[in-house]
Amino acid sequence: MAADIDCVVLGAGVVGLAVARELALAGREVLVVEASEAIGTGTSSRNSEVIHAGIYYPQNSLKARLCVEGKQLLYEYCSERGIPHKRLGKLIVAASPEQSAQLEQIAQRARLNGVDDLYRISGAEARQLEPALVCDAALVSPSTGIIDSHALMLSLQGDAENHGAQCVFHTRFSQGEVLETGEFLLQFEGDEPMELTANCVINATGLSAPSVARKLRGQPAEHIPQAYFCKGSYFTLSGRSPFSRLIYPMPDSAGLGVHLTLDLGGQAKFGPDTEWIDREDYTLDASRADSFYDAVRRYWPALPDGALNPGYTGIRPKIVGPGSPAADFVIAGPATHGIAGLVNLFGIESPGLTACLALARTTHNALAQPPHLT
Ligand SMILES: Cc1cc2nc3c(=O)[nH]c(=O)nc-3n(C[C@H](O)[C@H](O)[C@H](O)COP(=O)(O)OP(=O)(O)OC[C@H]3O[C@@H](n4cnc5c(N)ncnc54)[C@H](O)[C@@H]3O)c2cc1C
Repeated sequence: MAADIDCVVLGAGVVGLAVARELALAGREVLVVEASEAIGTGTSSRNSEVIHAGIYYPQNSLKARLCVEGKQLLYEYCSERGIPHKRLGKLIVAASPEQSAQLEQIAQRARLNGVDDLYRISGAEARQLEPALVCDAALVSPSTGIIDSHALMLSLQGDAENHGAQCVFHTRFSQGEVLETGEFLLQFEGDEPMELTANCVINATGLSAPSVARKLRGQPAEHIPQAYFCKGSYFTLSGRSPFSRLIYPMPDSAGLGVHLTLDLGGQAKFGPDTEWIDREDYTLDASRADSFYDAVRRYWPALPDGALNPGYTGIRPKIVGPGSPAADFVIAGPATHGIAGLVNLFGIESPGLTACLALARTTHNALAQPPHLT
């Protein structure tokens, strides 16, 4: 008997929607199933909305390759579709001569990743560009930009639906199994509980991806990582931004440091910081502002007292815990776990927004690979 549906995409964040679009454009029948009431209510609407250049990631990692490829695809897609975005450029700032020495390492890594437009400027040159900035030296990244992530997701959803995909909301994948026929039996709870069979399943459930994978019985457990959550808080700046470019301090092991980003209306925000937590909790602790003042004043000493207001939080879907080097994206398809028709997307933290179109392509390719017999 034929399956009820060809492909089921679990999760309607930016990655699930990009995958749904990619599959629908390729002529596949697609159903997107989302637990919450709308698209993009998870990490996809709780991030910095930066189009990253692809600077920091290890050479040949998926993060490096898909960020650089995804940036290019995203700028083209935004221009074609009129999705609001701006190629503002960013400065990576060194606060001291010791940090200045590290700028060359960052530039070198960027070159290895194919980002060859970075250039170094002195502290004085940085001040000519951004008079409020105090730093020893800086790297300029001209191809970094910002994007309206919700407009992007609406466009991806529109493309997918125009090619026959359907999205259902308020419907949570609860459990399932790989049948002997090779199809997947999937059960959903929510407003209208349902059960259906599918030829393919793409697990794009972000923070929940490891737990969702565990609920799909019949796949080897050793390919499902442990989930770790790392919260990032943002504070917005009262009044006009003194900067017209994005300003990033030197990165640390868990994130990119408390940076300044601008939204498309010119409003400045600072963040995200890093706080390891053990459950999905978006509460913002206003007292974290104290450490923001210290971090921001390293590059903007004139930040006035009381200028930071609580903004919002996002949670990085990590697959390694505190103290471990950052993990790469994991696109676990048949060649990894041996189950035809199944792709699990694990650890899709930053630069997942930038990389969404490239992630979708790679996921489609992974689906087509022959199963590796485990
Ligand atoms: C603080 C922070 C800042 C970031 N900044 C940037 C940035 O500036 N640039 C950049 O490129 N990237 C950035 N990222 C990364 C980017 O936001 C993510 O990579 C991207 O949004 C991940 O999208 P997703 O679709 O995988 O996950 P999500 O957006 O989380 O979507 C997953 C969806 O799955 C649904 N779901 C969960 N469980 C189930 C279930 N059982 N059944 C059905 N549906 C389910 C959820 O409701 C959710 O809608 C940032 C991330 C964080 C946390």
